[in-house]
Amino acid sequence: MSELPSAVSIREVGPRDGLQNEDPVPTEAKVRLLDALSATGVKWIEAVSFVHPKAIPQMADADEVWNQAAKSPNVRYSALIPNSRGAQRALDAGFTEIEVVVSASDTHNRKNVNRSTAESLDDIAALIQLLHDHNATVEVIVSTSFGCPYEGDVAPQRVADIVDRAVADGADRIAFGDTTGMATPRRVTELLDAVRGGHADTPLLLHFHNTRGTALANILTALEHGITEFDASVGGLGGCPYAPGATGNVATEEVVHMLHDMGIATGIDLDALIEAARLAEKIVGKELPSGVLRAGPRTRTIPA
Ligand code: MG
Repeated sequence: MSELPSAVSIREVGPRDGLQNEDPVPTEAKVRLLDALSATGVKWIEAVSFVHPKAIPQMADADEVWNQAAKSPNVRYSALIPNSRGAQRALDAGFTEIEVVVSASDTHNRKNVNRSTAESLDDIAALIQLLHDHNATVEVIVSTSFGCPYEGDVAPQRVADIVDRAVADGADRIAFGDTTGMATPRRVTELLDAVRGGHADTPLLLHFHNTRGTALANILTALEHGITEFDASVGGLGGCPYAPGATGNVATEEVVHMLHDMGIATGIDLDALIEAARLAEKIVGKELPSGVLRAGPRTRTIPA
């Protein structure tokens, strides 16, 4: 495993992507989770999204959550926005790392925002300009990068073309969302082979779901392709919007547990992270789909 990176950057997405896909929880609980995560040593957290409260009631209190959170100077915080109104709210709140989303699948994009993928890319080009004018960086998240619940597999070349467009328009990072848990090591390899060539200077981040149990295998495959940035969600918060009851986001503690065992640094204290996962479970009031939360680290022993 000598070619693998010695350190990996994990973005914790539980407070935003996780809680946005769970039943709404009180503001105070969101703040508590954010603060617990900020104290785990994780260096990067997706904190909130600035979306219309009617569209996503789970994030209606984003401003309050952000105001009340104990921001750590050791953590970078990012926010997701859907449009220029959200961009203004994020800038007003002091965010300098902004995420926008487009779906690689036309059908999925139309279902979400009633626009084609190409039309959304036009909107994103304008948002990038606006945000760059305010000294914020912009990450373009390409959702359904590995497949769409309506169209099935999405061709890697289609995703590569979207990346070309977004990078040409100024995207500072590209993230690939496995929105429906359709990625496998083979699909990861095909996508990265299709995309990598032209964009050596643009950071690529992978966002896997463990819906079909392949998330850690996908991460290992991506590591072998030189990817060093991954999303993960504490406890596996977030569920799967297309398969009720199924697992969504890969659990951060499962990723960290594997990476540390392989000698790959994350800066995260695994015990503190497992405690945060326990808190997440308490907050949503149900069992979360994390093996490391259930069983503890592999070195845990029990009295003989
Ligand atoms: Mg997700």
